[in-house]
Amino acid sequence: MGSFIYNNFLEARIMSKRKSVLINPDSYDYSKFDERTKQVFEDTIAFMEKKGGAEIRNDILQKVWQHDFIEYQAEHGIYATLLTAEGYGDNPDARFDLFRVCPFSELLGFYSGGYQYCYQVSILGVSPVWMGDNEEQKQDLARLLNEGNVFAFGMSEKKPGADLYSNAANLRPVGDGTYVANGEKYYIGNSDVAPKIPTLGKNLESGEWCFWVVDCNNRHYNYVRNINTKSDGLVNLGTFEMIEYPITRAEILKEGKAAFADGLSTINIGKFTCGWSSVGIVTHALYEAVTHANRRILFEHRVTEIFPHIRSFLTEAYVRVNAMRLYCLRATDYFRMMSPEDRRYLLFNPIVKNKVTREGDKAMGLIMDVVCAKGYEADTYMSEAMISAGMYTRLEGTAHVNMALVMKFMTNYFFSDKEYPEFGIVSEPKNDGNIFAQTMGGLAKIEFPDYGKAYIGVDIPNVKLFKKQVDIFRELLMTGAPDVSLLKNMDYMLNWGEIFCNVVYAQLILESAKLYDVEDELVDQIFARFIRDTSKFALDQVSSHDNTDVQTEYFWKIIDIVPTVDKEKDLKFWHEYVEVLDGCYMPKGNVVGLDHLDD
Ligand SMILES: Cc1cc2nc3c(=O)[nH]c(=O)nc-3n(C[C@H](O)[C@H](O)[C@H](O)COP(=O)(O)OP(=O)(O)OC[C@H]3O[C@@H](n4cnc5c(N)ncnc54)[C@H](O)[C@@H]3O)c2cc1C
Repeated sequence: MGSFIYNNFLEARIMSKRKSVLINPDSYDYSKFDERTKQVFEDTIAFMEKKGGAEIRNDILQKVWQHDFIEYQAEHGIYATLLTAEGYGDNPDARFDLFRVCPFSELLGFYSGGYQYCYQVSILGVSPVWMGDNEEQKQDLARLLNEGNVFAFGMSEKKPGADLYSNAANLRPVGDGTYVANGEKYYIGNSDVAPKIPTLGKNLESGEWCFWVVDCNNRHYNYVRNINTKSDGLVNLGTFEMIEYPITRAEILKEGKAAFADGLSTINIGKFTCGWSSVGIVTHALYEAVTHANRRILFEHRVTEIFPHIRSFLTEAYVRVNAMRLYCLRATDYFRMMSPEDRRYLLFNPIVKNKVTREGDKAMGLIMDVVCAKGYEADTYMSEAMISAGMYTRLEGTAHVNMALVMKFMTNYFFSDKEYPEFGIVSEPKNDGNIFAQTMGGLAKIEFPDYGKAYIGVDIPNVKLFKKQVDIFRELLMTGAPDVSLLKNMDYMLNWGEIFCNVVYAQLILESAKLYDVEDELVDQIFARFIRDTSKFALDQVSSHDNTDVQTEYFWKIIDIVPTVDKEKDLKFWHEYVEVLDGCYMPKGNVVGLDHLDD
């Protein structure tokens, strides 16, 4: 009897393990949200489902700006609730809480990267104000959010691009602590629709950085033109200029190095939401792709039945997007817990940008290889996803700017061993005001605990094999680390960086898989991918660069490790995890998976 109960308990527990962590608006999991947050998500889903995929795609094709959603969110206080910092305005539910800000980004991405972009740029636009020293601007921002406005962020310029230090927008002092602003900002989302734009530039006299706010209704503000992109319509992207724009203390948010730091800290938040959006985009595209492929009949059989490579591509996309979400979930915990004593998020955030978004791009490539022509039909979600998934790797600091950042942590990640207080899922409703008080510099001083901790107690074959690759890579760093001149050569270091990213990615995914009680079978598939990916980077390194003998030897040791191959297990995984997605989300106006009905 006792063992029966125990077995039942075990079975119930096993059954309750998650086969997927992906969202589906038809069965969204609100269990960790408070009532108001749940309402915000439900309202948004209700709007999007009522509108339907066909009309959303049509807006994109016809280049219709998202007026309807902006008005809807204003009426329902959506941006106001999500983006107002606690203590400002009179909305008791308002707080800047990453536990809802991030999944909201994913949800909007699920419907369209265009909706998400408007939201993301608004996040960028409000952040320097919440970080700044100007109380008057904070109060005004709360008022404007309450009125339902969206926001913009004026950092980039046309010529300097990623070289922000060369930005030319400036303030010229004209006496009595007042200035005039001049200069042009380029690639600025929402700049034709936002009421105000925090703008970064330099004091022309002192050379010091300054963040100030421009009012888009001021006659010295000139919206120059739209910058046309493939996702025009829902997305508003443009360039604006300030022409002898008068600035007083009332418009200044911050001055000096701290102003520039706020710009980077703002991007730290923005690039984080890019990764979440990428997860939403690929999730939706995957649902469409499985539904389409599984119902498509060729040579009198279902495509997924007769072509094993189709099953394999869809399985890989499924595995990659689940891994992306698991990473984002855990990285959000670290970001929410950041403090002057715990700055590990500075490694984990750029990986959301450079790895998660590129994984999304990779998964979209697989999806397109499966659906082929169908994915080009403009009334499918996939046709939009193909473009938007790629866009995210290039926003908010390109993938390789972030890779350069990540590599600064390699030594400490492997060779420091600092204890931190442990934390699980950080889901409590709180204003994450700590992320508005980030500090720059000192990256090389950030220490990490032993990465091996994440692997303790995990008895999953491919996890154990991957751990061997990680340990070999660590040994390689001990015995054959690249010399200083090579460390600065991004071409030479790229594969080292990719392997390092895989190691960190894997650590957080393992932590997340435990916290979200994910099926071992899924974790095993994820780690089989990591082993293959790591081997590919190692092979590229030995076949493309001048390495020392020691380095070559160690890279070959990494390549030598292969995941356990079990085709029966893979087929079972396809049936139980991936094929079941067929028809799991069929919104109003859906055009995918219905072709067979034409006959
Ligand atoms: C659709 C879209 C929307 C945008 N929205 C906004 C916005 O709202 N507000 C805003 O301020 N900006 C915005 N941007 C600007 C965006 O953040 C910049 O495109 C980005 O910072 C990089 O500049 P760039 O694309 O011109 O690259 P470039 O400056 O031309 O860089 C060229 C290449 O050099 C590499 N590189 C440069 N520096 C480094 C480095 N240190 N290490 C390694 N590699 C490096 C890059 O990876 C890239 O491959 C937007 C851009 C786009 C395309």
